[in-house]
Amino acid sequence: MASKRVSVVIIGGSHAGLGVSHKLIRQAPEASITLINPSEEYYFNIAAPRFLVKPDSLPSSKYLLNIGETFTQYTENSFTFVKGIAAKIDYLNKTVVVKTSGNSLNERGSKLVAFDYLVIASGSTTPATLGQGSLKLPFKQTAFEDTRKVIFEAQERIQAATRIVIGGAGPLGVELAGELAEATGLKKVITLVSKGDCLLAGSGATETVQRTAESLLGRRNVVILKSITIVQVYQDVESKKWSVTLSDGQTITADEYISRTGVLPNNDFIPKSFLNGEGWVNVDDQLRVVEDKISRNDTYAVGDITSHPYRLLSRVSAQAEVIASNIAATMKRDKRLMVYSAEAQQKMIVVPVGQSTGTGHIGGWTLLGCLVWFFKGKDFLTYKAPKFLLGKE
Ligand SMILES: Cc1cc2nc3c(=O)[nH]c(=O)nc-3n(C[C@H](O)[C@H](O)[C@H](O)COP(=O)(O)OP(=O)(O)OC[C@H]3O[C@@H](n4cnc5c(N)ncnc54)[C@H](O)[C@@H]3O)c2cc1C
Repeated sequence: MASKRVSVVIIGGSHAGLGVSHKLIRQAPEASITLINPSEEYYFNIAAPRFLVKPDSLPSSKYLLNIGETFTQYTENSFTFVKGIAAKIDYLNKTVVVKTSGNSLNERGSKLVAFDYLVIASGSTTPATLGQGSLKLPFKQTAFEDTRKVIFEAQERIQAATRIVIGGAGPLGVELAGELAEATGLKKVITLVSKGDCLLAGSGATETVQRTAESLLGRRNVVILKSITIVQVYQDVESKKWSVTLSDGQTITADEYISRTGVLPNNDFIPKSFLNGEGWVNVDDQLRVVEDKISRNDTYAVGDITSHPYRLLSRVSAQAEVIASNIAATMKRDKRLMVYSAEAQQKMIVVPVGQSTGTGHIGGWTLLGCLVWFFKGKDFLTYKAPKFLLGKE
């Protein structure tokens, strides 16, 4: 009689979930992996500042890639894709309840997927992605929405706007301001509001990088407001214009307001006992989920959804490697397990300001504008998307 395959269910099919899926199949071909994701396409959101502002700069095939095709290379039964969202984890029966349509849970709109091991890779979203107090911009994918349509609508709104305010001067706020300024020259007024007294505060950027970002944006006529917070944002229902009230008392009227603050965990389906005070999943150094101070041997978490504070694509591969390796080792009753060290990851930040220049540092090395172009600015890392899709990064 054939032995039962070990079933590994991965919730979330973006950078982290895909990384674990491929790495695990390669290390443990005897595992049966089920990947649950609301879209059949991998969304390379990293390039969003470029293609949302400059629609002709990148074809959609560069940032929306089919997930299923990349798994046909493996043996039959090693991989199943389930289109839907995890609605509940049932530990009593070791199943995940998956909602397969936007309607409420019922027999036709849901299915059960059994697991021996579970990997939570459901990531995060942003207020702008959800259109909460902001122009709706697909910085991440949203379940049961047509991503191409949402992208097209966002591109149209940005093109039509003359006055745009960006709230938040982290890496993404700076990248967006740079793209907008370059795309439109003096035709648009771009205002970037920074809570800190410098740009890129709290991102790990060095002072040189912070100053260079400010100088590059200043040269492109971006209005930079520092040490100022957004007090209130209001959109007029009829005119659709935004009133942005600032902590210095002024109110700016803008055609569009883009919120670049806030990262929200996709945790609706996750037991509350797994979450820290901010809603992220507690993990130990093997990336096993910690519940009431005890590590679970059947559940791991990876990527943005974990309690690790640097929510970056550049952290995902190392984490995926640890989880794939540990599940494979546990299946073989091998006690040699890998650990993930956030401190050991290289400190780096690369921020294009328009197509041809930008700023950043890798470790202690400050990057010249031409190197920022080379590493990221030329195509916003889309050349790496197929590698992430195949778990080869
Ligand atoms: C616009 C933008 C630009 C960025 N640029 C950079 C950069 O240049 N460098 C860098 O290092 N980092 C960057 N980041 C951060 C990077 O995007 C994240 O660190 C990365 O997306 C984390 O990947 P993830 O797979 O953990 O989560 P996510 O990318 O958030 O993916 C989560 C996946 O899970 C799915 N999902 C959610 N809930 C469920 C559910 N209940 N059931 C099933 N599936 C579910 C989602 O649909 C999605 O497919 C950027 C972020 C943004 C928003």
